[in-house]
Amino acid sequence: MSGNKDAGLPGIFCALAWLHRFTNAQGQIQVCCSSEEWDNNIRDADGAPMNIVQGRADEEILNSGFMKDVRRQMLAGRWPSFCQRCLVTEKTGGSSRRNQENDHFRAEIPALLAETEEDGTISARVRSADYRLGNICNLACRMCNPSSSAIWIRTWAPNDGGRTAALEAEAGIRYDWYRDPAVMEKLKKQAATLRHLHFAGGEPLIVPEMIDLLRYCVDEGFSSAIELTYNTNITKIPQALKDLWPRFRAVRLFCSVDAFGELNELIRHPSSWKTIDRNLRDLDRNFDAYGLKEVLVMTTVQVYNVLRLRELYDYLFENMTRVSQLPNLVDLHYPAYYSTQILPPDLKKSALRGLSTLLDATNERIKKGLIRPDCAGAVETLKSSIRFLELADHPEEIPKFARQVEGMDAISGRSFYRLVPELARLREFIDG
Ligand code: SF4
Repeated sequence: MSGNKDAGLPGIFCALAWLHRFTNAQGQIQVCCSSEEWDNNIRDADGAPMNIVQGRADEEILNSGFMKDVRRQMLAGRWPSFCQRCLVTEKTGGSSRRNQENDHFRAEIPALLAETEEDGTISARVRSADYRLGNICNLACRMCNPSSSAIWIRTWAPNDGGRTAALEAEAGIRYDWYRDPAVMEKLKKQAATLRHLHFAGGEPLIVPEMIDLLRYCVDEGFSSAIELTYNTNITKIPQALKDLWPRFRAVRLFCSVDAFGELNELIRHPSSWKTIDRNLRDLDRNFDAYGLKEVLVMTTVQVYNVLRLRELYDYLFENMTRVSQLPNLVDLHYPAYYSTQILPPDLKKSALRGLSTLLDATNERIKKGLIRPDCAGAVETLKSSIRFLELADHPEEIPKFARQVEGMDAISGRSFYRLVPELARLREFIDG
C-alpha cells in the first residue's frame, strides 16, 4: 500500500477509475486529465486508443480490459504507470488529485467497492465527467498552443517556435467532436447519473453545444444533482448561462487571468481588460443570482508577469467580495522559455524579493482579517511559486524567450518591455 493517505481504502484506490469519464480536446478518451503527460489513453481489446467519435457506450469504456486492469492494479496497491503525478505528489507529502477525488466521492466509495467483481468489472455509472470542447477559443494567449486555441495558429504562426508544425504533424485529428449529434446523444444519456460535470477547451463558455446540453439537463430534471465547473477566460458569459446556472446544484468557475490591465491584454491577446473587469464585477455582484458557489482567479506565473503580480493582488483585494480575493498561482512549465526559472541571477533575485514582499503583505492582510477565510488558502500557491523560482536555473532558454517576445510584439503591435522595463535587457540575448 504505497503512499496511501486515504485511510480505510484498499491499495491505492482512486475513485476516478470507477466513476469518471475524461475526453480531451481531440476526442481521445483517457483516464483523467492529471495523467495527460503520460500515456493514459483507454485502449480497446486490440490496444488501439479509444476516441469519442467511435460512439462507444460508457459500459464498454469503463469495463474495457484496460480499465478492469487499472482497477485491479489499484486495489492490489500498485500505481498504474500513468499516475505519476499523484504518486510524486503523495510521496512529497502533498495532497494529490486522487486524495481530493476520494474525499469528494467518499460517500459513494463503499458501494463502488462492494459492486466491484474479482476481475475488476463494475456497474459503470458515470458520476463525474470532464470534456475539453475542442480548440475553439477567442484568445491566442502567448504561452498557449495550437491544440488549445485555433486562432493561436492564425495569430502567431510566423513566430511560434515550431508549435504549429507539431500540430500539423497530427493532421486528421478532429477537434470538433462535440458537434457530432451522435456524440451529444451519448452525453445526454450520461447526464442522468452525473454529479459533477467539468468543461474546458478552448473556451467552453462560447460553445453553443455545451449550452444545449445544460438546457437538456434542466428540461429532464437532472440539473439539480449536478455540480458544474469550468476553466474559462471569462471574456464572454452568455446570458443563457446566467439563466441556466442557478438550476444546477452548484457552479464553480476557474477564471484564467494572468495580470492586471494592459499586461493581461498583452499576455492573453487580444482580450480587453475592460471586459474582464466588467465580467468579474458582474460575477461578484450577482454571485447568488447566477448560482455560483466559487469563482477562483487562476494565474499562470511566467516571465511575463512575475514582476507585476502585486497589481493583480491589489485589484482582487480592493474590488472583490464574493469572487476570490487572492489569485491561485500556477507555475508555467511549458513552453520552457517562458518559465520564471530562465531569469538570470540578478533578475531572479529581484523577482524573489518582490514575491517575498508580496507574501508578507498578503499574510498581513490575512492576519488582520481583511481577506475572507475561504480565500486565504491561496497564499500557499504564492509560497509554492517562490519555491519553484528557487528550484532550478535555465538561463539557456533566454535567447528563445527574447526571440519570442520580439516576434509576438511585432505581430500584436504591443511592447512587453514598455510594460516591464526591468526585463528589457533580456533583448540583448536575442542572438545567443
Ligand atoms: S491516481 Fe491520480 S492520475 Fe491516477 S487516475 Fe487517479 S487522479 Fe488520475
